[in-house]
Amino acid sequence: MFRDVKKIVKNSIFVLISIIISCLVMINNISYAQTQNTQSSLRHLVSAEKVEAAGGQQYNQIIYQAKQKGILLDNRNDMYIRINKISQRLIKNIGNINPRAKNWIWEINVLNDSQTNAFCMPGGKIVVYSGIIDKLNLTDAEIAVVLSHEISHALQEHAREQMAKQQLTNVGASLISNILGLRDIGNIALKAGAGLLSLKFSRDDETDADLIGLDISARAGYDPRASIVLWKKMIKIAGDNKALQWVSTHPVGKNRIKILEQKLPELMPIFTKINPVLAHKKYISNNKDIPDVE
Ligand SMILES: [Zn+2]
Repeated sequence: MFRDVKKIVKNSIFVLISIIISCLVMINNISYAQTQNTQSSLRHLVSAEKVEAAGGQQYNQIIYQAKQKGILLDNRNDMYIRINKISQRLIKNIGNINPRAKNWIWEINVLNDSQTNAFCMPGGKIVVYSGIIDKLNLTDAEIAVVLSHEISHALQEHAREQMAKQQLTNVGASLISNILGLRDIGNIALKAGAGLLSLKFSRDDETDADLIGLDISARAGYDPRASIVLWKKMIKIAGDNKALQWVSTHPVGKNRIKILEQKLPELMPIFTKINPVLAHKKYISNNKDIPDVE
């Protein structure tokens, strides 16, 4: 009997905590939706320095492990030279999206690893896994789409925003657990706020990273129409294997491609200024199942 009562009390507490956490998340979403396409003030809960330091730490760990495994490509490797050249051109064209980025020490590394993944940590640390280039047979312009998208997440501080949201829900959970004397629940919530690489961005963040990324890429002289072919390649890969990293964190619905197609008339003039010859031809797809883009 006593055990049953204890169970009921415990279940009710969990329901209460879930409701409060949902409310906190809803409050976040309301403030975020209103400020869509801009950075929300919520991110000030976590300092930019802290997020960039955490990014640097995780990056160092990945590079250290890659060195141990012997999969870190050296700077004479062809793939490294190619990725580095594209990244440098993009970095030169980030403008003033994030004033802090002027002081970032950008680093680019390529791992000889079959994972289909690429990221740019807050603070400008870029890592590309050879698997994403090989499996998708990416052209330079398509690599620029992936990298500028990742760079845009870093510039727009999307990780900082996600960490702030997590902090808010953690505070809510630990507050309740302290009031109720259930310290372990607070700890579970804190543990759930895992590393930067496991952060999942909102759909709005993804759209922003797509569009700002393509703006950077067009200014750097890479054809924004490459994005259409890239995401169609992603659909093909996703169909075969949903466990692939960049595919699993970047769901491709028809809507994503539709938004990009709608934005091309705004993006093409930027590219035309840099490379009028290529801009007046169609973008050639290197995959026989995916059409060229007019
Ligand atoms: Zn993304």
